[in-house]
Amino acid sequence: MTFPLEFDAFAAAFLSLGLVFFLGLWFFYERREAILNQRRRHTTVFHCIKCDLIYTRSRRRETATCPRCGFTNSRLKF
Ligand SMILES: [Zn+2]
Repeated sequence: MTFPLEFDAFAAAFLSLGLVFFLGLWFFYERREAILNQRRRHTTVFHCIKCDLIYTRSRRRETATCPRCGFTNSRLKF
């Protein structure tokens, strides 16, 4: 006679663990996406007018030297 109660408790525990697992996954991927977006937003794109190279630098800045030829370029504006 105790089987239905134990089965209910097992099913409740199983469903709760599944719910916690998927909530954890959801939270993890949301945080990861937010961090990646923040990193992308703070990247500045440059185009070298001397050697035609397109490169990026972290942080927001107005000028950066080209890694190929050393020419100082101003950032691309869209
Ligand atoms: Zn260059």
